[in-house]
Amino acid sequence: QTEQRLQKVIANAGVTSRRKAEELIKTGRVTVNGEIVRELGTKVDPKVKIEVDGVPIDKHQKTVTYAFYKPRGVISAVSDDKHRKVVTDYFADKDLRLYPIGRLDYDTSGLLLVTNDGELANLLMHPKFRIDKTYYAKVEGIPNAQALKKLREGVSIHGRKTAPAKVWIENRNQAKNTALVGLTIHEGMNHQVKLMLRDVGHSVMKLKREQVAFIDLSGLQPGEARRLSNSEVEHLL
Ligand code: URA
Repeated sequence: QTEQRLQKVIANAGVTSRRKAEELIKTGRVTVNGEIVRELGTKVDPKVKIEVDGVPIDKHQKTVTYAFYKPRGVISAVSDDKHRKVVTDYFADKDLRLYPIGRLDYDTSGLLLVTNDGELANLLMHPKFRIDKTYYAKVEGIPNAQALKKLREGVSIHGRKTAPAKVWIENRNQAKNTALVGLTIHEGMNHQVKLMLRDVGHSVMKLKREQVAFIDLSGLQPGEARRLSNSEVEHLL
């Protein structure tokens, strides 16, 4: 006999805990073959069509990862007590419990990976993974050779020395006395790029993350996301 309690089938599909599944059932958010079922003890064949909030339970279970182009003025979180815009607002139609892998500052734009795969997130955020992240920073003034050398060799922020970085001048505007500096780092200290540049005398006016590992922003506009393929996700590890 393959029939199981409805809440167990929902929980086993990875949608939510069994207790929460019971609540979903009681509040009429669960359908079996299109019919709302509110009876907790209901036994079902796990292969029938079960939906929570209109979404099939096998869809809740899938792990998905997106490359998201975070605009400036968005919090890298799933909620904000000051009601500012958060990253997951852009995925509200997905009905997946997504969250960002790591963070970009509120005023930083660029590539952020967003996933519902906790295991992947933990792995990628672990320092030993040393994933390269490339940033473009618009700075006040034009860093000279000595400043670039210091950035490459490591500067002290948060009382620690940063690891060797790739640093280059992408372009310079002599008239405005600004430059666009490219940096590739694999650490993720708080405000790292801003503090590194500040340390060598250049404040960051604008910051954008262009690339994480081999994933970049190509084809994306601010606020847009694209789902990574399974092979892209595997290559990240
Ligand atoms: N470094 C920063 O200073 N800010 C970011 O958002 C990311 C890296």
